[in-house]
Amino acid sequence: MKLDELEFQTKYLDSVDKKFYQLLDATALDDAFLISYNKKLCDEIELDYKECETKDFVDFINGKKVLKGSIPYSMVYAGHQFGQFVPKLGDGRAINLGSIKSWHLQTKGSGLTNYSRQGDGRAVLRSSIREYIISEAMYALNIPTTRALAIIGSDHDVYRGPFEIEKGAVVLRASSSWIRIGTFEFFARSEDPKKNLTSLADFVISENYKHLENDKNKYEKFFYELVDKTALLIAKWQVYGFMHGVMNTDNMSVDGISIDYGPFSFMDYFEKHYICNHTDVEGRYSYNNQPYIAKWNLFVLADSLSFIADFENLQKYLKNFFSLHEEAYLELMNERLGLDINLSGDRNLDLIIRLLKALEESKIDYNFFFYLLSKIENPDDFASVLDNCIYPEHMKKWIEDYKRVLLLDPRTHNQRCEEMSRVNPKYIIKNYILEEAIKDAQNDDFKLVNDLLNIAQNPFSEHKEFERYSKATPLKYANIKLSCSS
Ligand code: AMP
Ligand code: MG
Ligand code: MG
Repeated sequence: MKLDELEFQTKYLDSVDKKFYQLLDATALDDAFLISYNKKLCDEIELDYKECETKDFVDFINGKKVLKGSIPYSMVYAGHQFGQFVPKLGDGRAINLGSIKSWHLQTKGSGLTNYSRQGDGRAVLRSSIREYIISEAMYALNIPTTRALAIIGSDHDVYRGPFEIEKGAVVLRASSSWIRIGTFEFFARSEDPKKNLTSLADFVISENYKHLENDKNKYEKFFYELVDKTALLIAKWQVYGFMHGVMNTDNMSVDGISIDYGPFSFMDYFEKHYICNHTDVEGRYSYNNQPYIAKWNLFVLADSLSFIADFENLQKYLKNFFSLHEEAYLELMNERLGLDINLSGDRNLDLIIRLLKALEESKIDYNFFFYLLSKIENPDDFASVLDNCIYPEHMKKWIEDYKRVLLLDPRTHNQRCEEMSRVNPKYIIKNYILEEAIKDAQNDDFKLVNDLLNIAQNPFSEHKEFERYSKATPLKYANIKLSCSS
């Protein structure tokens, strides 16, 4: 389809009261240009690739060209940031364009809105590249997430500190939903919470929980399903060593997907209590705290929903969170290790707990470990794994235990490795890799951004030219911490 043939819907505007959004135009960036577009997502919305190489496409992302049916708007929400309630947040730098084929499109970095507070409404090139690539990487790992259709750069100065001038960029993001737990928190504090929450919840249900539309306990069931989805999401994050970094309630989706990528990180060398967000001094959002925080956030949602659902029922269901999370975590960890969860009485829980300790003590790149394990040629020879441990003796012991469990597995070695290969990617987009692409981009060279997009989307494939990215993170680049400012 041509750009001009795309047709947007803006159902949110008809669903909730107008005091919950602002209709506005983007403030275009100066001298904007295309950096990259995502063919896979073009396929989803049936947009011709050629259209993405036109000036119109850049104008569309830059807010200079409004497409058929689109009514640009920003949404208000609230949120608990690092545990503190902030009554009014919102799309401070994001503008919603409407939806196409259930993809809600939104630009990030398109200028001031009524919800910008002290911010400038902009996003810098660095953080935009990070979000653009990582959302596609998450998707390829089968981790529920927002996506990104394209990224534009500009010659527009953006100030991020007294002496830090960066260039502005805009990512065109796509999601099944942009509604956050924080959106419910805001509606719950409005003048007529019952009426407003009903309209918001009905909108969410009609978009993302359609099967519940005629259920008489639809609001409760929506919450139960979100508890299930969120438990699975956090399990997937942890299985792949992912840390979001800012799990404030305004960054938690009511569709159970990963949203708002900021100072995230994939674990380089496993550390259970690792904190990837430089600003998070107390480690509220550390790797290990993620399930606890997710549950806390869901409790906040339950509290907001209490105007339209039975709070006690919600709380009761939320009690399942940790067992749901553990079940999903163990299932996926068993898969990554090539183990059959049913052949062990404890679902190999003990073996997995000891693995985490062995990983930490032996110092081996977290995801590289699983990849090496899936590539073992001889089930008696784990030299390739041990050679990649800085302190191999801890891992040696664990491997002896692992071998004993493998003896119970009726599959052949090759069958097992083949199945493991489906969940153990060769490539994980780590922070140091993104940093290299960002550095090039800041010198107007966008080749690596496009190459990384391809690697992110095909992490199980060979990428000969980038073999080095498939190896352990060089120690000097390991565990880079980033701050929220972006
Ligand atoms: P975050 O934790 O990055 O998702 O952002 C928290 C809140 O701050 C959201 O409401 C954002 O829209 C807003 N925000 C972040 N950066 C900016 C900015 N540069 N200008 C305006 N609002 C911003
Ligand atoms: Mg956010
Ligand atoms: Mg952000």
